[in-house]
Amino acid sequence: MSVATPSASQGLVQILLLEDEVHVATALQMVLREAGYQVAWAATGQRALELLAQTSFDLLLADLYLPDMDGLEVVRQARVQHPPVPVIVITGYSSLATALAALRLGTADYLEKPFTEEEITACIQRVLAGRGKDGGPRDNMPTPLLKY
Ligand code: CA
Repeated sequence: MSVATPSASQGLVQILLLEDEVHVATALQMVLREAGYQVAWAATGQRALELLAQTSFDLLLADLYLPDMDGLEVVRQARVQHPPVPVIVITGYSSLATALAALRLGTADYLEKPFTEEEITACIQRVLAGRGKDGGPRDNMPTPLLKY
């Protein structure tokens, strides 16, 4: 599988991975690094908040079910950064309410575990392209579901 490299003019794309399950986090870090991204891993919500305060990330990949806090709190923090950090929510807990709560906070996308390497990298590329930092396409951004 060939994976598009992140835009060279922007330097390395920095991704914050919030995931408490070690085997998932380890596998995801390998996939993301192979795709050319720089990855910081936080196993707790508290750690993710610390990293968000220190570094300006290009993307947050967030699991919502954490041992120490609700992942939505971290998503909320990412969305009030300047500029707001795009968020892809990853979770094994499939519930419409959770998905809607995440989307309401302005998350860019939502992936349900288990997902494939191709699904996550395609999702990341789509979200990063949608930021339009270098005039990239915006027309493939997911349409917000919440109008009411
Ligand atoms: Ca979890």
